[in-house]
Amino acid sequence: MSSQLALENVAVAYGSFTAVSGVSLTLESGEIGCLLGPSGCGKTTLLRAIAGFESISAGRISLRGDTISQPGAMLPPERRRVGMVFQDFALFPHLSVARNIAFGLAAMPAAERQQRVAQMLELVSLETYANAYPHELSGGQQQRVALARALAPAPEVLLLDEPFSSLDSELREQLAGEVRELLKRNGVTAILVTHDQHEAFAMADRIALLRQGRVAQLDTPYNLYHNPGSEFVAEFIGQGSILTVSVNEAGELNDGLGMLDMGHRHWQAGETLRLLVRPDDIEYDEHSQLSLVVRGRSFRGAHYLYDLVLPDGQHVPCLAPSHIDVPPGGQLPVRFNLQHVVVFEPDTTPAES
Ligand code: ATP
Repeated sequence: MSSQLALENVAVAYGSFTAVSGVSLTLESGEIGCLLGPSGCGKTTLLRAIAGFESISAGRISLRGDTISQPGAMLPPERRRVGMVFQDFALFPHLSVARNIAFGLAAMPAAERQQRVAQMLELVSLETYANAYPHELSGGQQQRVALARALAPAPEVLLLDEPFSSLDSELREQLAGEVRELLKRNGVTAILVTHDQHEAFAMADRIALLRQGRVAQLDTPYNLYHNPGSEFVAEFIGQGSILTVSVNEAGELNDGLGMLDMGHRHWQAGETLRLLVRPDDIEYDEHSQLSLVVRGRSFRGAHYLYDLVLPDGQHVPCLAPSHIDVPPGGQLPVRFNLQHVVVFEPDTTPAES
């Protein structure tokens, strides 16, 4: 059976500038994908190519096995059965919520259209707002109208272009979770574009992390975090420090980190490694022999995220319960747990554990 959406070796060029190249990915029915990456990496370009607003210079895009884009030939956006939610929602300010939702249903008989609008209002829990105007709604409600409008014509794929970026930062993650649930409940296949990894984690089944127009890693959120394939991926996903360490004669890590036993890992004496250390690799341990200086910390409610300095000056993050209240300049006793740590060889490919 064909994938719901397939991109095969897709490239997009703006004149002589190739914005995207060699991108291959598939989405199965009901799957939520994400294009994630820093500004300018080509996320929007790819989304626009899928929507049919941009032509491709190489490769193929298909929906349920039917080619919708190839070099020199493309199905126009209105014939693609692709729905789109824009960054600013793009609601029509002079139309009521119900008429906004009905916008893409002009070809439907009136009675059926009315029924579909009612169904969509219920889907996004806005039944009582049918006659309201966009300016009378909160940002989150406006977004739900945009979602209902995009879903009303029952698209094969829903494209979401930074759908949470104009909303309050506290609302974003919560909404990402809610929208995910709504899409999952209704079996909608979707692609989200975002530069925010928390949003991507909260919403997507699989994420294509892009770098300069290419896929750096296509993986589940879990694997992107736990098995980043390169230092770029680890740095973009963040939440950790990449340390340069060396191994001594006893097979342990160097001076400052001498007490870090590498356990089952065996490295050559004198070898230099790049080690990705995340907050979950370091534990507060009041009995530990190792105390690290607190350089800074941020309060997260249940936890403090501590920024700790190693004896050689490199620093590492540590999440400790917030009743462990050590101010900057103080010392925090900690224990490293390297069972899950990621080691990058000099060529940035992670070692097998
Ligand atoms: P952002 O997160 O900032 O929106 P993005 O990942 O969506 O970035 P794109 O907008 O897809 O990135 O842009 C990818 C590259 O293509 C960038 O280098 C950008 O400058 C370039 N680009 C985008 N649109 C055009 C255009 N119409 N003409 C020429 N170059 C373009």
